Amino acid sequence: MEQDYLNVKGRIFDIQRYSIHDGPGIRTIIFLKGCVLRCKWCCNPESQRYEIETMMRAGEQVTYGRDVTVAEMLAEAEKDRMYYRKSGGGVTLSGGEALCQPEFGVALLRGLHAHGIHTAMESMACAEFTTIERYLEHLDLYLMDIKHMEPEKHKAFTGRSNELMLENAKKIAASGYATRLVIRVPVIPTFNATPMEIRAIAQYAASLPG
Ligand code: SF4
Repeated sequence: MEQDYLNVKGRIFDIQRYSIHDGPGIRTIIFLKGCVLRCKWCCNPESQRYEIETMMRAGEQVTYGRDVTVAEMLAEAEKDRMYYRKSGGGVTLSGGEALCQPEFGVALLRGLHAHGIHTAMESMACAEFTTIERYLEHLDLYLMDIKHMEPEKHKAFTGRSNELMLENAKKIAASGYATRLVIRVPVIPTFNATPMEIRAIAQYAASLPG
């Protein structure tokens, strides 16, 4: 059925409204649960595992993760439509890694576009390109993290080498979709906060098609 994608389920751990740092205008950020990396500096440990889990925070037990449908998330986005219209904003998928739930992620982007809402995604592009391509069809802005250019150091600090992600950056830039690609760098002391390391990332970004 044409509308079946509205019933696709996904797992999120948070929704943040009125964000102004994750794409143009005022945005609603939907945080998907599950990540393929294990960055040593991660400030959202509750985002890493796909499983719903309970953690202690400020002396209290808190449950992280809940299952939602695309239709429910579209209803959440509709509450902020006035802000999107006045500011040029929209919805940003974040995580975790939003590519870890492709059925839900793609269906949600499709639904947002069907509602005329601007879409963005924060992601490390750590997935097969065939998966990423499914997102691009309904994605206006790809906010891609590049953390480091050296595979060994990347692996030592995040748990994974960076070759697949760097290759995907090239493929996204050359894909021919209307998606705008923006490279962002989390600057982490002891990991990449030297002029030499930042310059290497900048040079790579500058070499990408478009
Ligand atoms: S990519 Fe982001 S969410 Fe995943 S482990 Fe690293 S900092 Fe945490």
